[in-house]
Amino acid sequence: MDMPGAGTLLIRGAAAIVTMDEAGRVLRDADILVRDGVIEAVGEVPAEAAAQATRVLDARRRVVLPGMVNAHSHSPLAFAKGCYDLVNHRAALWMFQAFTANATADEIRCAALLNCLEMLRTGTTAVIDHFPEQGFGMAEVDAVAAAYRESGMRANIALRIFDEPYTDIYPPAGAFPAELDADLREAAVLQPRPAGELLALVEEAVRRHHDPDGMLQVSPAPSNPMRCTDALLAGCQALAERHDTIVHCHLLETKVQAEIAHRRFGRSQVRHLDAIGALTDRLSAAHVIWIDADDIPLLAERGVVPVHNPESNVRGGSGIAPVARMLRAGVRVAIGADGSPSGGNQAMQHTLRLATIIGRPQDPDVRNWVTTADALGMATRGGAAAMRLGHRIGAVAPGMAADLALYDLGSPWWTPLNDPMHQFVYSETGGSVREVFVGGRQVVEDGRVTAFDAEAVLEEAQGRFDALLRRNAHLLDLSRRLASATLR
Ligand SMILES: [Zn+2]
Repeated sequence: MDMPGAGTLLIRGAAAIVTMDEAGRVLRDADILVRDGVIEAVGEVPAEAAAQATRVLDARRRVVLPGMVNAHSHSPLAFAKGCYDLVNHRAALWMFQAFTANATADEIRCAALLNCLEMLRTGTTAVIDHFPEQGFGMAEVDAVAAAYRESGMRANIALRIFDEPYTDIYPPAGAFPAELDADLREAAVLQPRPAGELLALVEEAVRRHHDPDGMLQVSPAPSNPMRCTDALLAGCQALAERHDTIVHCHLLETKVQAEIAHRRFGRSQVRHLDAIGALTDRLSAAHVIWIDADDIPLLAERGVVPVHNPESNVRGGSGIAPVARMLRAGVRVAIGADGSPSGGNQAMQHTLRLATIIGRPQDPDVRNWVTTADALGMATRGGAAAMRLGHRIGAVAPGMAADLALYDLGSPWWTPLNDPMHQFVYSETGGSVREVFVGGRQVVEDGRVTAFDAEAVLEEAQGRFDALLRRNAHLLDLSRRLASATLR
């Protein structure tokens, strides 16, 4: 049987390898030997080992990087890129319901593969998919799991649950016309369900699909701790420990969320999570913008992995996360593109560039600036930590899985070749990816995704989204009324 990634692959004479290994080495004119999907040697490969290669890839015109980890995305939103501009966080979340609620299995699959297509073509090989946007059952989980198995990518399906209302996005009483207020509550797409029911559903999904060390993980993922009871949060932590999963969530994305937590608990959301035993190294949390400065060292102490989402954070006017400060405090930080309507796209190069420069105007001391190595570290080792796969992915080093992206030097972004790390973050666009491997299996050849029928996905996506929007016309109308009420 032709096992994916089986055999011995020699990537020979790469112009540069940005290894992201412990020493942060960038190698020139170097080889990589991959045996049965695992990297065996990097740098100089002994001649007798090289002679055993069943395939040799000439990489003299390639820069090699570890496949990136997009540590926070929402696959159901892949259809909704470019759908709006002047919309704040509250109105956007209602719009997302119109873009994603009542999706069929075919629509879930098409959106997930479309998201994967964008990531693979731009050098990202692993993703945490905070899925979906609203209530779900096992049919939805099975549909997205099947899509990831088909995709060739490594993925964590982080199942989004909540057992309390979205108090941060329902308008405060009297803020909007009574009719709009009533219609929002009646739409009931964000209906909380009992904690016990949600935990049973997630546990069953974990049993069906979770492989802690492999290509597909499943995890409990509170939508946001402020939309959950302590019982649900503690239940997620216990489930994660039972089945060796991560816990993923949104955290302190908006100022109002931080205020609600202080009002409700008499302490910060982070301190509250710690008090109930939910602040651990299993937790990866998207955004983390409105964190109290005093709480940052606690994240480092507990091993929590914040996931930076710079573009969606500023697009919706939510804020800028104190990432430079977190890095200086020893916090491991990952990075994500977020859903495409708010993050723009899934090309992580754009996200890394913004992560590097976004905080600089706030601090004139260059010693405090986020560097290109910091940003790429978030997209590799940081993302690996978020998925609890630090022993398998995130670096080009012996013993690591061969999750690799090869970029073509014969492209304007790499010409002439200067500092590969700076050039990757500041100049490359995702447009020069030629070959991508996941666990040694080639999933992109000559810039084209070969793991699945990408042409068919591109062809069917428009029709699928049109059908979904027709089905959700009432929700779209509601979100537009809310967006215009919010503008006032
Ligand atoms: Zn998100």
